[in-house]
Amino acid sequence: HGVSQPDSESGFIRSYYGDAGLDSATRKMLIYEQRRRLPAFKHRMQLLYAVENNPVTVIVGEPGSGKSTQLPQYLYESGWAADGKKIACTQPRRVAAAMLAQRVSEEMGVELGTTVGYSVRFSDASDPQMTRIKYLTDGTLIRECLADPLLSAYSVVMVDEAQDRSIATDTLLALLKKILHKRKADLRVIISSATLDAEGFRSFFEKDSSIIVSISGQPFPVDTQYLAAPCENYLACAAETVVNIHEKEAPGDILVFLPGKDAILTVLAELEEQQYGNHRLESLLLLPMYAGISASDQKVVFDLAQKGMRKVILSTNVAETSVTIDGVVYVVDCGLVKQRVFDVATGIDRLVTRTISRSSAKQRAGRAGRTQSGKVYRLYTHEAFNSSLFTQHDVPEISRLSLATMVLTLKALGVSNLVRFDYFQPPPPELLSQALEMLAGLGAIDMQSGLLTADLGLHLAELPLDPPLGVCLLNSVAKFACVREAVGAVAMLSLGDSPFVIPSGRRSEALEDRREFIAQEGDVLTLVNVLLGYQETPVRVRQQWCHLHFLNPRLLDQAARISRQLESYLVRMGHRDSLRISCGRDFALLQKCLVSGFFTNVARLDKLDGRYRLIRSGQIIDIHPSSVYFSMDAKPDYVAFASAMDTTKLYMQGITAIDPGWLTEIAPHYFSIK
Ligand code: ADP
Repeated sequence: HGVSQPDSESGFIRSYYGDAGLDSATRKMLIYEQRRRLPAFKHRMQLLYAVENNPVTVIVGEPGSGKSTQLPQYLYESGWAADGKKIACTQPRRVAAAMLAQRVSEEMGVELGTTVGYSVRFSDASDPQMTRIKYLTDGTLIRECLADPLLSAYSVVMVDEAQDRSIATDTLLALLKKILHKRKADLRVIISSATLDAEGFRSFFEKDSSIIVSISGQPFPVDTQYLAAPCENYLACAAETVVNIHEKEAPGDILVFLPGKDAILTVLAELEEQQYGNHRLESLLLLPMYAGISASDQKVVFDLAQKGMRKVILSTNVAETSVTIDGVVYVVDCGLVKQRVFDVATGIDRLVTRTISRSSAKQRAGRAGRTQSGKVYRLYTHEAFNSSLFTQHDVPEISRLSLATMVLTLKALGVSNLVRFDYFQPPPPELLSQALEMLAGLGAIDMQSGLLTADLGLHLAELPLDPPLGVCLLNSVAKFACVREAVGAVAMLSLGDSPFVIPSGRRSEALEDRREFIAQEGDVLTLVNVLLGYQETPVRVRQQWCHLHFLNPRLLDQAARISRQLESYLVRMGHRDSLRISCGRDFALLQKCLVSGFFTNVARLDKLDGRYRLIRSGQIIDIHPSSVYFSMDAKPDYVAFASAMDTTKLYMQGITAIDPGWLTEIAPHYFSIK
């Protein structure tokens, strides 16, 4: 029935009870008992009653109380999906949607992708007929609205993790409010949140038709420790704290919050090094956890540690509310988070590491007190925590990110007046007008009518891609005759991670091998070479091929899958015959195609100091060390880039050499010749 295999990214695929050879009756019993112990269970009737009698129910409960896994099952068991309709449960994060579907299918004893399924960008493990409980990302459900504006396939929509306030969550809340006007009788909306800001959600909907249910269990006390003086290097400090806990404290797992993958890998390496030759540390089981980690690494995170072992989970803020790992007694909080921030002035989306909010710090601490009293080690001082360094709450995405995708979707759904739209929280006007300008610049919106353009805008809204990437894909068919390469480029750029690996101690060998793929035209063409090489290799030897060429097979498999999805979108749009169109050796076609999507991200080499400057603002931007241009002596005069990152410096990634003449040719409305 066309159910695709759950991908490796959906990770976490593994029986919670391990493969310990339990017979199915015992497993069922254990699962049943565990389900009964969750705080949600005590509120089962109250929850069902609330949903029965109110169009909107707001549920508040600590992470781990059973909102995401139990409530959809309660609804299913009491007949909310009996008449062929589905129960939707949306998540801000793809990895959480996949993981929850896996967990719930296991609890219900059904195969994933049948009664319980999930659907996220580029990966669908659900069945149009059979699936009754469907986990999706908010963005995926919004895209379903394009085909089914009243979401008539669903009887209940549960917007989970609403406290995250992603743009997609906010947009979905606004859409659901509109849909409820038409489906008050037969649609139920549930909003679930980990924090106590329930009133805000409720008052957005009509108060007399909504209700708040709180299902918090009694959390245990958490003892908070601060640093006496600020630390110089929080990564070293995190590793040291873990070792100290292990040596001085009672048994219990440790959860360490770090801002991102790089930080996680650094601390991991540090701890591994200390473990070497120190048998007291041998009982530490080190487990990294971030989006995009391999399935085999992820699945161990949820297993209870063997007797005598202590798990140390090194995690991004995905473990703050989205996933709950049992057994955690100690939390180490470095106080930082990686956040995307859109800079209206430069038009660049940046990844910045910043201080978390106090409410975030509280959530993190709470992870230590779920099953017994715990301790949180904050790697900052008490003074800092009370200073203006820490804000009270996080700034929601709608106030700090590019709104291009949201605007595109709202337009596609027929919202003509974006200023008067009933938002959950109105976006800042400058972000709104920037998004409109950008979409107009890309050719997706007609500025005169304010409507999506028929040739580009309407199709762009259907694609699950950032608008610039979507424009590259569509223009590869319409204008630049490089479909094969553009599909590969867009797929590789959608990965968000580099496929090149450098095994420790084999750096020069790996770099030498990489040269085989490197294109003078830059990173994007290099990535396309890699993917085409992978796709041309017979399936059974692909793993070997990746190993030989120092490439990550999981990411390439994912890219190949994304390519196929992109192709199916193009087929649906009537471009089946175009799929084979290749630019051959005429790489300028692909370069121009990339410029048509990324003409706002252009930089020029300043010969005086040898550094690049953004054309728009003159700001200095450097080549990221992962780029092929980083170590090349001859650097192109002009480049376009796919993304920028702001760590210690502003870096560009996914770089392509361009001819400045193309800018005025492809985006004359944006550039004029000086
Ligand atoms: P909430 O939505 O309130 O945060 P969940 O329904 O996600 O809570 O989780 C309830 C409980 O189910 C957790 O405390 C955890 O023990 C268990 N659980 C959830 N997901 C998994 C999983 N993938 N593997 C093992 N246990 C899980």
